[in-house]
Amino acid sequence: MSLHDFLNAQLAQRHRDQLYRQPWPHHGKQQPLLRHHGRDYLSFCSNDYLGLASDSRLIDTLQHASKDYGIGSGASHLVSGHHQAHQELESALAKFLGRERALVFSTGYMANIGVMTALMGREDAIFADKFNHASLVDGSLLSRAQSQRYAHLDMAALANLLARSEKKHRLIISDGVFSMDGDIAPLPELLHLAQQYDAWLMLDDAHGLGVLGETGRGTEAYFNALNSVPILVGTFSKAFGGMGAFVAGSALLIDYMIQAARSYIYTTALPPALAEVNRHALHLAQTESWRREHLHFLIDYFRQQAKILNIPLMPSITPIQGIILGSAERALTVSQALWQRGLFVTAIRPPTVPLHRARLRITFSALHQKEQVDQLLSALAELLSPCFISTDTA
Ligand SMILES: *Cc1c(COP(=O)(O)O)cnc(C)c1O
Repeated sequence: MSLHDFLNAQLAQRHRDQLYRQPWPHHGKQQPLLRHHGRDYLSFCSNDYLGLASDSRLIDTLQHASKDYGIGSGASHLVSGHHQAHQELESALAKFLGRERALVFSTGYMANIGVMTALMGREDAIFADKFNHASLVDGSLLSRAQSQRYAHLDMAALANLLARSEKKHRLIISDGVFSMDGDIAPLPELLHLAQQYDAWLMLDDAHGLGVLGETGRGTEAYFNALNSVPILVGTFSKAFGGMGAFVAGSALLIDYMIQAARSYIYTTALPPALAEVNRHALHLAQTESWRREHLHFLIDYFRQQAKILNIPLMPSITPIQGIILGSAERALTVSQALWQRGLFVTAIRPPTVPLHRARLRITFSALHQKEQVDQLLSALAELLSPCFISTDTA
């Protein structure tokens, strides 16, 4: 088969299955009102939970820092790309998370594959929640360790797998807050099982940090288990509104990662100006608790009203609120109908979520107003009523 035929066949299949995807260009800033072809759409699908992505003070920081430090970092960290700004960001992170050290990576995806491949090898086993983020799945594949996936949140299944494993090293890995479902991993049980079966524990808290806990220390804070996870990964790309990621833990862990994490070693360092922005964002996220308070007010309000309106939600107290619609076609139909009403909520389809679990993934930001949530609620109530769904998908 020629390359041309292969590509055509693949794309045609995706169209047939309603799984074809396309990026969607907006112009202007990342904020609740997104501008597209001269019209504003009220967006409920960014991960900018605290509304920091377009904060004017962070924009100033980027301008000043890029004047002082330039644009590119020029090299990888271990050559000449490591800047004082990275160093200071790592110190601020370690302090925020109560760890000995932290190490900055260029993205969360790279942090996960770097940490996992550095720790695990052919003789080892990785125990992973089935709903873990794709970067954790890929990290597992790249590490060549045996992959043992347990049903979502099923601690009995995890215990069972651990009890039967005879691999040299065992690593349990879970999202803190699950990226497509918004529910929270049972951290106390994970810690207990790790201890009981002499396994290591890694938590990817990309969606918990900044959002959960009084100062945003994430899933650990939620469970009153600060500083309990030995390998903690987080990103600057969600609640902190920027770009980049990190792993935090003991000085020993970080020292080893610098030697062994290939996605740290063999890639260009994050621009130092962005490191400076991230440090500022980390400070704002900790100190401006009104952002978290308003966010959680909106989440509670949305859930309360959805219940009254018979909008079926998944169990979640986080800014990620899913509405399962089943088929990809149904999810697309509702998403497009929202779009026509000036509301932007992307349809999340397989393989991002399991087959028949296509959904709307609604997310809230501290910059949303209650009236905007009302707008979303009334559109959802209309579109999810039996008459709309049946006429539109008939
Ligand atoms: C977004 C996300 C990542 C990847 O982070 P990037 O910085 O966007 O590469 C990793 N893990 C989880 C759970 C995520 O949601």
